[in-house]
Amino acid sequence: MVRNKLCGYLCLLMLLVLTSDNEFRYHECMLTQDFFRGFIKLHILHHASKEAIYGIWIIEELGRHGYKLSPGTLYPILHSLEKDRLLKSEDKTVEGKVRKYYKLTSEGKRRLEESKLKVRELVDELYE
Ligand SMILES: [Zn+2]
Repeated sequence: MVRNKLCGYLCLLMLLVLTSDNEFRYHECMLTQDFFRGFIKLHILHHASKEAIYGIWIIEELGRHGYKLSPGTLYPILHSLEKDRLLKSEDKTVEGKVRKYYKLTSEGKRRLEESKLKVRELVDELYE
């Protein structure tokens, strides 16, 4: 699967938040929760820009980066991205089962490019 620098940056940011203060855990704080949702969304948009992706694949991809995400957290995020017209879903039958694949829309592509500039600006400042 496609990986690149942005993927690494996102993971780094996630880790920074995770490890910066043990008291400040993701599920305990609305602000952090928003923060994480933002990272997750960006990570999803990034991969959906490369190829059509599906729920379990995303859970595994984020898990590979040490981030545990349940379907109960992921699916509402996918639905909100679709509602915002950043992703478009398509059902495909794989080995007799219907699986929902998500692809980036042109609006999603525009928003991803915008966000990447913001992430770069932030990362540059954090490490200057
Ligand atoms: Zn990734």
